[in-house]
Amino acid sequence: MQRRNILVVGAGPVGSVAALACARFGHSVTLLEAEPRVSDMPRASTTQPPTLEIIAALGLIDEYIRVGLVARTFEFWDRPTLERIAEFDFDRLRGETDYPYVVQTEQHKLANMALERLRAMPNVEVVMGCTVSGLEQDGDQVSVRCGERQFIADYAIGADGGRSTVRKSLGIEFEGYTFPERFLVVTTKFDFAAALGCCSRNYMADPKEWTNLFKVAGDDLKGRWRAVFNTREDETDDEALSDTAVRARLARCHAPGADWVHLNLYNVHQRVAKHFRKGRVFLCGDAAHVNNPIGGLGLNSGIHEAWDLAGLLDKVLRREADDASLDVYEARRRPLNIEYVQEQTIANKKRLEEREPAQRAVRFDELRAMAADPVRHKAFLMRASLLESARRSASQ
Ligand SMILES: Cc1cc2nc3c(=O)[nH]c(=O)nc-3n(C[C@H](O)[C@H](O)[C@H](O)COP(=O)(O)OP(=O)(O)OC[C@H]3O[C@@H](n4cnc5c(N)ncnc54)[C@H](O)[C@@H]3O)c2cc1C
Repeated sequence: MQRRNILVVGAGPVGSVAALACARFGHSVTLLEAEPRVSDMPRASTTQPPTLEIIAALGLIDEYIRVGLVARTFEFWDRPTLERIAEFDFDRLRGETDYPYVVQTEQHKLANMALERLRAMPNVEVVMGCTVSGLEQDGDQVSVRCGERQFIADYAIGADGGRSTVRKSLGIEFEGYTFPERFLVVTTKFDFAAALGCCSRNYMADPKEWTNLFKVAGDDLKGRWRAVFNTREDETDDEALSDTAVRARLARCHAPGADWVHLNLYNVHQRVAKHFRKGRVFLCGDAAHVNNPIGGLGLNSGIHEAWDLAGLLDKVLRREADDASLDVYEARRRPLNIEYVQEQTIANKKRLEEREPAQRAVRFDELRAMAADPVRHKAFLMRASLLESARRSASQ
């Protein structure tokens, strides 16, 4: 059995990026994915500036921007009155980053781009359609079972998503909670920018039912909109996905008569693994933490972890650092996820769903004041873009 330096479980965007980052350092890598191909279900697209810096360092940025949409601004709206409350402009981050904007590129495109590079590398093995069922480790190596096959390596990275088999095999608790409502994603060709005058990233508050409106390029690069709604707590899946309910939701979002091309219903959680490392195995991306998607932070933070971890493992595999130095991964990444990803996404959700009129007015005034003040505007974006988190990580 060939021993590898690193096994990566899961070829989602985080696992693919982790594998590519490790392989580019010259280490031998095996990437194991349960599905025969990368899932193209509509999930993440918003890619924040520090993540674009990593994608650039991986040599993927030109293609990444070409197949996505550049979005310089995002806006908060009061959905019932269709009033634009505040606009935030990433150009205020010019000088802080080479990428003072977000790029809306669907996550399957990133995973596929990384996989294409990995398949061309002699030090990499990509195994699709292979479900990892468990792992064992000792002081010397980690061994992963995948169907009839067994793989051994110096280290393993569990990037196998929120239901992570790796995390469960390690017996690591996934602390947090699940929201009672679900999120419905309606993908449509209806042009919200033309109809409402909004930009391509919009957060629409409504005491009864909020909406996030995002434009993505689509595989044909012709443009699609994703409208994300909360469901009622007592609403069944069938009801939420019914034509009548979807039409009514689109109508309440000022798109009466709009048609759709795809529907998805997601359970939503705020959870963080109690540990990000156990011995020779590390958790990365959704395997380590999940959060509501408002603000576009979950995948971004996963990619930051993949990049960070690849750098740490590289030093150890080159014998420039010892195994104990890898403890910094959990010590650094777990608090950053809690402070920047969990706290902000929880606050973002509260801002959209606030029911009490006086409190809504306070939140709107706060947004207006923040957008109008150049110092607070930039400070808000430094946090919202994860640039502050990335700079803190780099300085530790
Ligand atoms: C509606 C929605 C919108 C979102 N928008 C954003 C956004 O704009 N920005 C953002 O940052 N985040 C966003 N997110 C979050 C983002 O989608 C996730 O954080 C991201 O998918 C995490 O990537 P991952 O690679 O860690 O996990 P996944 O994408 O879940 O990939 C895990 C991979 O592991 C494989 N796998 C699972 N089990 C096994 C096994 N036993 N053996 C082998 N392989 C296995 C799976 O098949 C899969 O390919 C959004 C999420 C949702 C639901």
